[in-house]
Amino acid sequence: MPDTGGSQSLLRNNVNFPTFSDLPYENGVDPTYYVQGPYSFSPRQHWCFLGEIVGSYGLCRVLLRVKDKDGQVVTIGLYTDDRGRPLVPQIKEGHTVAVLYGEQHGFLDMTVGIRVEEPSIIRIIPCSLEQLLKASDEVAARKLNTQSICCGSCGKKENTSDNTHLRLCARCKQASYCGAVCQKKAWVDGHKTDCKALVWVQWFAARNWGVFNGYFNF
Ligand SMILES: [Zn+2]
Ligand SMILES: [Zn+2]
Repeated sequence: MPDTGGSQSLLRNNVNFPTFSDLPYENGVDPTYYVQGPYSFSPRQHWCFLGEIVGSYGLCRVLLRVKDKDGQVVTIGLYTDDRGRPLVPQIKEGHTVAVLYGEQHGFLDMTVGIRVEEPSIIRIIPCSLEQLLKASDEVAARKLNTQSICCGSCGKKENTSDNTHLRLCARCKQASYCGAVCQKKAWVDGHKTDCKALVWVQWFAARNWGVFNGYFNF
């Protein structure tokens, strides 16, 4: 089994964050994902599919077209009791859909994709897949201290002799700034979206994806 922890950027790990073609088949028991227990098969580890919204359709239920890390476009069908209605206001092209424990499914119209039956396993993350992956790289680099900490806007480093004290963004606790002016500027320049991506990456990073003892929910 590949190493899933340590130095790697979490969301680029293709075992716990697989592309569509790596997802297990709905009616199979892929040994990468399942292990035989005393009564039935249970997940060996956790996994989450990520795809960026490229379109949506569907009259009686929400059907999303999403592009995965490989660029493959697949359908995510909402077969929940609410048919995905609560998600509608959040559906936006360029935003990212996360589906826990997704499996490859063949729909009746011959398209392939993921059939979602439980609302608690799907979320729409308000940033692009690229932004989310970049945020994952940043969090990994910061953990290793390979990135020296400097102002996210002007690049100044912490320096007591000229009274430069960096303070962390209160939301993501990842970006740091030398003062309110730089913080405001960075927010308008794009941290507003990056910040959400960083907060989500930390939600993922706070969980142990390699060991299964009960399902995760959003
Ligand atoms: Zn600054
Ligand atoms: Zn932030």
